[in-house]
Amino acid sequence: MDAPVTEVFRQHLIDPEICIRCNTCEETCPIGAISHDARNYVVDPAKCENCTACIAPCPTGAIDSWRQVPRASAYSLAEQLGWDTLPPQRELPAAAASSEMPPEVARIVADATEGQGGAAPPPWSAAHPYVNLHSVAKPAIATVSGNFRLTGEDASSDVRHIVLDFGPVAFPVLEGQTIGVLPPGTDAHGRPHHPRLYSVASPREGERPRYNNLALTVKRVTEDHDGTPMRGVASNHLCDLAKGDTVKVIGPFGTSFLMPNHPGANLLMVCTGTGSAPMRAMTERRRRRIALNEGGTLMLFFGARREEELPYFGPLLKLPKDFIDINFAFSRSPGEPKRYVQDRIRERGADVARLIADPDTFVYICGLKGMEDGVAQAFADVCRAHGHDWETLLPALRQQGRYHLETY
Ligand SMILES: Cc1cc2nc3c(=O)[nH]c(=O)nc-3n(C[C@H](O)[C@H](O)[C@H](O)COP(=O)(O)OP(=O)(O)OC[C@H]3O[C@@H](n4cnc5c(N)ncnc54)[C@H](O)[C@@H]3O)c2cc1C
Ligand code: SF4
Ligand code: SF4
Repeated sequence: MDAPVTEVFRQHLIDPEICIRCNTCEETCPIGAISHDARNYVVDPAKCENCTACIAPCPTGAIDSWRQVPRASAYSLAEQLGWDTLPPQRELPAAAASSEMPPEVARIVADATEGQGGAAPPPWSAAHPYVNLHSVAKPAIATVSGNFRLTGEDASSDVRHIVLDFGPVAFPVLEGQTIGVLPPGTDAHGRPHHPRLYSVASPREGERPRYNNLALTVKRVTEDHDGTPMRGVASNHLCDLAKGDTVKVIGPFGTSFLMPNHPGANLLMVCTGTGSAPMRAMTERRRRRIALNEGGTLMLFFGARREEELPYFGPLLKLPKDFIDINFAFSRSPGEPKRYVQDRIRERGADVARLIADPDTFVYICGLKGMEDGVAQAFADVCRAHGHDWETLLPALRQQGRYHLETY
């Protein structure tokens, strides 16, 4: 059957202007998808599985070339063999342009970023992310190399640090990206479960550098948002995994919630619960580069019910005070008044306002949907109190890729 015209895929190509015809990629490709003639090296779209095994060994980067193309009109081998330059990205039908991401993932992402007013550009100095390398039809298989509880034994929630090892499979991620997990089994209608997204909690080199792994921060969901007991499909699957078990993973996803790479950039981070995952990734990236003295301020607002419920509480306390300015907000600490992240933001108003007004500051908000309005209101209040206009600042922050929100 012919592919529908709207089905778009990411066609792997080789840039003939850059390629030095060294044959490395052809030797590397495990399934013989690369061939050549006297003129060009080319990738067969009918064979290439986007495994990315050929990307790192290529000495020039010519192999790291991609175009979104309707499946029905992929560039043929004959066309590629005739090229002197790569063709520009073609205009895609509107219906096709967004179909690369699985539709259920696109829907979840749109919902998670709704509060920032739609898609935002990444920070100008962000590294270029890989996205959509592994699909629902061909997920990557990761092996669990660690799964331990982050929250106290008497805490109301079971939040876990789960390390996934990808072995020889390429799964490059940047801080702030998400991955999709495909739970085993089927839903009530007998259909495979839809993917669930989880933020990457480790920096780009992985939880354990050079071992092709990444960490997640997963909360076991045991009740719905109204408090009715239920067993979350994917979170329980992940939290129950033992070392050596395997997980089906798709993605990575996310081209916007990325950290700046330039020295001197400030990170203003606000999170609750598992919203700490991307903040941990970014903080850990900066911590590992601390000796480079790149400058920039890290300010974190972190909300939870109690100390015991905070993922990464212990490690956070060990970070040097002049490296990161941490502000906890506990809403159920015995004998203390309820405090939410927006209360702490107001208490630190002068510093927050100064940071927000600095063009080198990038704001990240992640956690439960309920936090969005309170945080935005607190930002507006501190700006007003310190001579800045939030209504003018916010559109500029968004447009400059300096305001990123992900809530679920
Ligand atoms: C961009 C993005 C990033 C995410 N990152 C993380 C992460 O780093 N760590 C993490 O644990 N989760 C994260 N999530 C949430 C995750 O994708 C799942 O929604 C969550 O694990 C519940 O899935 P489940 O299959 O266990 O529950 P399901 O079987 O899908 O049932 C979910 C039901 O549980 C309720 N519920 C209760 N608490 C939650 C909760 N915390 N999240 C979602 N639904 C809840 C909902 O009302 C819903 O009815 C993220 C979501 C998005 C959109
Ligand atoms: S991505 Fe994998 S399958 Fe495709 S050409 Fe490169 S090595 Fe071969
Ligand atoms: S490895 Fe890179 S430079 Fe060498 S032939 Fe392949 S694409 Fe060209």
